[in-house]
Amino acid sequence: MAASQPVSVLITGANRGLGLEMVKQMVEGPNPAKKLFACCRDPDGSRAAALQTLAKKHPNIICVVRLDATDLCSIKQAAQQVGSLLGTGGLNLLINNAGFLAKATLQDTTPEDMQGSFNTNVMGPMNIIKEFLPHLRTAAKASEVPGMSSSKAAVISISSFLGSFESVKHSYSFIPAVSYRISKAGLNMLTLCAAEELKKDGILFSVLHPGWVRTDMGGEEGEIDAPESVQGMLSVMASLTEKQNGAFLDYKGNTIAW
Ligand code: NDP
Repeated sequence: MAASQPVSVLITGANRGLGLEMVKQMVEGPNPAKKLFACCRDPDGSRAAALQTLAKKHPNIICVVRLDATDLCSIKQAAQQVGSLLGTGGLNLLINNAGFLAKATLQDTTPEDMQGSFNTNVMGPMNIIKEFLPHLRTAAKASEVPGMSSSKAAVISISSFLGSFESVKHSYSFIPAVSYRISKAGLNMLTLCAAEELKKDGILFSVLHPGWVRTDMGGEEGEIDAPESVQGMLSVMASLTEKQNGAFLDYKGNTIAW
């Protein structure tokens, strides 16, 4: 990230894929975050091993926090735990990265696909925004810099091009993912509502499409690797101002049609 690196950052789904790469680049880059909170569902499980190894090497990973996006109780506990470690500066940047994908067509989509997508990709980010709002407000108030930025107080949610209404005609036959598309469109609307409601608090909200990335979710046929996607997204995040409050951008900074 460029000059305007936030002091405190929280990332969900930080144990693998894009989330893990974000943690890496944010602590190993030239201008590292001072306080990074890396959230995952099971900090003591084998799926968090790479994240725990990274956390041992970098004291600016303040802690690996248990947070399941589908579990309000764990979100409340995480907000409390992180709040006790933040200090007076509050939380500058919250990245809603955790995501769930079911690839089924409309006719094959199950209630479980729909519930999993909605709970992880919409309800999760909504509850996370609500519970971490006091910490974001503290950060916005503590800053003496006018305007909005991701180094002051911001929520960036990782959405997808598949949540774009415009994209359906030319991408549906390639990947239907009905429940995922609906949930990411919901995440986009959540972001627009939050941007409108909380602009008076000086908190910036945007959604980013990471590109089609070779991760567990994106598959081996993806177009780019996680380091390229994350490098792009972090520089887009660093460039955001109040002009991009409520924007839908890709990892190169291009605007995506809703
Ligand atoms: P991965 O499948 O590689 O990783 C998903 C991450 O989300 C894992 O850390 C996983 O944790 C976590 N997660 C899933 N469910 C929950 C939950 N209920 N609570 C907390 N964490 C959870 O995906 P990517 O890294 O590729 O995707 C990251 C984000 O980018 C997602 O929001 C995705 O929709 C989006 N995206 C990805 C694209 C791609 O091409 N890869 C394209 C467009 C968007 P666990 O290990 O516990 O399962």
